Amino acid sequence: MKIKPIVAGNWKMNKMPKEGQMFVETVINLVLDIQEVSVIFAPPFTGLVDIDVNTPFFKAAQNCHWEDKGAFTGEISAPMIKDCGVDFVILGHSERRHLFNESNRLINKKILASLKNGLNVIHCIGETLEDRNAGETVSVLEKQLTNGLKDVGSLEKLVIAYEPVWAIGTGVSASLEQIENTHKSIRNILSGLYDKKQNIAVLYGGSVNLDNAATLISADGVDGFLIGGASLDAENFASIIKIVENI
Ligand code: PEP
Repeated sequence: MKIKPIVAGNWKMNKMPKEGQMFVETVINLVLDIQEVSVIFAPPFTGLVDIDVNTPFFKAAQNCHWEDKGAFTGEISAPMIKDCGVDFVILGHSERRHLFNESNRLINKKILASLKNGLNVIHCIGETLEDRNAGETVSVLEKQLTNGLKDVGSLEKLVIAYEPVWAIGTGVSASLEQIENTHKSIRNILSGLYDKKQNIAVLYGGSVNLDNAATLISADGVDGFLIGGASLDAENFASIIKIVENI
């Protein structure tokens, strides 16, 4: 079965709720006739409630807590996110791993909680420049996948986003060859972890923009993008969606 490509925009800590609502309307109007791409908007929590979208447009949260409720000041749980009509949650993003010290074990708890509550998970993985230079890319990814997906029985509600840390927000994307090789390794690791051949979308993220989107989407094994900076501009984001639609 062919996987429908995904273009996901991670807004990080940007856009007020009203601004986000208007932004989503603008993008949808610019890509009204798309059929072949699923588009995911990931606003901050405050923007999730009022944005109202239907297939092929979806909402994603950028994080969640692993418990359903309780004394966890400042946290938001998977059931709360689900209750806002959200379909996806991004977990394991490099900024969560590196700025907030999230470990593979913690990310695994969040993944299990999200799946239990009916959310689809975009599980971000990626190596640092040090890892890559030390020839440890594959072993780092293997650890992130093995530990992050512990006790996850099926990949049915999972999307993997390969985001090399050194390419996020730097303006320097990975090369086509690096992406193709790494996506192949990711699929090998997954087929070692799961018996049956699993049909899973593997996205690329890291300095995707209007200029490189057509090239990067042509890479073997790339099922779409997770985009930070370029997802904040409606025209750019819509144009990238169209590029992926027309591939
Ligand atoms: C990201 O933060 O997931 C990301 C890919 O950012 P950027 O596109 O800005 O590199």
